[in-house]
Amino acid sequence: MAFKIMLDAGHYGKVNQSTVIPEYYESEVMWKLHLLLKNELEKFGFEVGTTRSVQTDELDETKRGRKSVGYDLFLSLHSNASTRKNADHVIVYYSYENKNNAIEFASKLSIGVATLMGVKEGSKLGTRSHEFDDGIDEYYGVLRGAKSVGTPLYYIINHSFHTNFAATRWLLVESNLKKIAKLEAGIIAAYYVNKTLFTKGDVIGDGKITAKDYLYAKRALFGTVKLTEDQFFAADIDQDNKITSKDNLKIKRAWLGTFEP
Ligand SMILES: [Zn+2]
Repeated sequence: MAFKIMLDAGHYGKVNQSTVIPEYYESEVMWKLHLLLKNELEKFGFEVGTTRSVQTDELDETKRGRKSVGYDLFLSLHSNASTRKNADHVIVYYSYENKNNAIEFASKLSIGVATLMGVKEGSKLGTRSHEFDDGIDEYYGVLRGAKSVGTPLYYIINHSFHTNFAATRWLLVESNLKKIAKLEAGIIAAYYVNKTLFTKGDVIGDGKITAKDYLYAKRALFGTVKLTEDQFFAADIDQDNKITSKDNLKIKRAWLGTFEP
């Protein structure tokens, strides 16, 4: 799999201390989590980057987002804070414009992590935009940065609240962080396996458009192979619900680099 993931540990050094369990710092726990997640994602064959290489180094939010240039997914890891001590939910922030149907992955991630953590208020989704001098944009700097460099999907996930006793105690257990990392990596992998199958032109679903796709689609056109539903979607370039010689030609052109499906 050629997909690339950029992970961002929310904060640096000793920042955002828990109000209920003093040994918890959001910056330290999320740093641990993002390294565990990197490890789990690499097992799936993803190429994984991190926005910072040294825990104690600070980097401006927008710059952290921009580090995702050339990556397929940007994910910033956090725990939340609230004056409401029983606040206990997982929230995923996604593109306020719902770019590339960003809500689809946001929902999977939020529901999955909320279920694993057993949070009292379940899973939530959020978007936040802000009016700047030059127009409306993402409210959060990391998301603004990721968007500005053309990263197709960018998210912030809050793993419940470090102002909630039960959630903080749970997050302080290293084996629980490993569970989150495994789960999140699995959700990301499942999402991209699907995406590969559903990419226009990539009829055989190996993540690229080659002569193989063209020949396979051609055989479908002549009726010598029967396409699955996903393959049909990939082969039907103009989305008119039939496979024609036009679709076939476009796959050929995509393979030769003269057309982008
Ligand atoms: Zn944070």
